Amino acid sequence: MQLELDQLWLDQTLSSAQMLIAGPCSAESEEQLLTAAHALKALQNIKFFRAGVWKPRTRPNCFEGIGVPALGWLQKVKQETNLKIIIEVATKYHVEQAFKHGIDALWIGARTTANPFAVEEIARAVEGTDIPVFIKNPINPDLSLWLGAIERFQIRGITKIMAIHRGFSTFATSKYRNDPMWKIPMELKRLHPELPIICDPSHIGGTRELIAPLSQKAYNLGFNGLMVESHPTPDTALSDAKQQVAPHVLASILSNLVSKTTVITNDKVKREIDHYRELIDDIDTQIIESLKDRQNIVVDIAALKRKNQMTTFQVQRLDELLQMRQEAGCALGLSKNLINEVFNAIHDNSVKFQTKLMN
Ligand code: PEP
Ligand code: MN
Repeated sequence: MQLELDQLWLDQTLSSAQMLIAGPCSAESEEQLLTAAHALKALQNIKFFRAGVWKPRTRPNCFEGIGVPALGWLQKVKQETNLKIIIEVATKYHVEQAFKHGIDALWIGARTTANPFAVEEIARAVEGTDIPVFIKNPINPDLSLWLGAIERFQIRGITKIMAIHRGFSTFATSKYRNDPMWKIPMELKRLHPELPIICDPSHIGGTRELIAPLSQKAYNLGFNGLMVESHPTPDTALSDAKQQVAPHVLASILSNLVSKTTVITNDKVKREIDHYRELIDDIDTQIIESLKDRQNIVVDIAALKRKNQMTTFQVQRLDELLQMRQEAGCALGLSKNLINEVFNAIHDNSVKFQTKLMN
């Protein structure tokens, strides 16, 4: 089902090539917020100034945010800079306080999106208003939870919605703080092309160095904007110090990003792309026909196995098959991973198909 979104608001907010939300991880002092906001105001395309007022910390005894007094500071930021303000809300009380202090937009944090009770409470609290709500992916790699949170706001009449991709928690050690698992936001995009998605490279990367490459990757994949953490003196930040950048550093990162487009305006380029797509379509047709030929042979092999009371799955055969395909693929410069994924899927399917035939 298509989401009902406020197209006018989306067009205005996304009017620039890539929209930007920037500001510190946490509101720490009035001075910190004003310094950050005045510097960030100069950046092109900044649509919202962000700051965490209540911080969901993984472990206790960390800085948990200033709470309500920070909302007064943010009002001052808005007065002085004219920037729109966005904060994270996780409870009905947070929403009430946000409205009371003229906050312009809300975001739902990753830990909250993972909790349908909390999402429902917030969705009910914003019902009847036209506040924009930005919904981060849940902390665990579960697209349904992300979709569920978006739907809960839709059901309560919210039409100004965007998704934020901030990566997923895993136990595995990796160079990322939160694994991007790009396939998940891309699947969200496939299911809801009408819903803009922005990328939060700060929480995916967890370090300053990863902000630029992650942002470029997001641009390449057609994301609609970025949410980046920026602090006047990142090293002294009370939360997420390693991943925050000073406003002038953010400005330099942004100026080096190359914007990409999904819309082709140049006729010559369009013809070339169409030509390549036709070639790819032909090859995919050949692949499908080959899969059908393969399946016909599987029917014969299943009959033979059945006659001779053999099992459908023989692990040794799978090992040999993967080994041979990997060698053939690598010799042609294909990645081992691609060959493994493709042939595991083909073999898996073949075993299932044979099992069905044998019953
Ligand atoms: C944040 O944006 O500061 C934050 C806490 O994000 P997340 O919910 O993505 O961890
Ligand atoms: Mn943070």
